[in-house]
Amino acid sequence: MGYRCGRCKKVVNIDPTLVGQRCPLCNSRTFYKERIGIAKHMKSE
Ligand SMILES: [Zn+2]
Repeated sequence: MGYRCGRCKKVVNIDPTLVGQRCPLCNSRTFYKERIGIAKHMKSE
């Protein structure tokens, strides 16, 4: 599934509903669903 990193804006292939998921590029833990029309903010603590 595709999610967009909230920091570097890159699409990463992770599941942010799992704990400890981080962007492999910038180490951010904030992701957005990569879906047109939906800007749901997801945060994995
Ligand atoms: Zn990132």
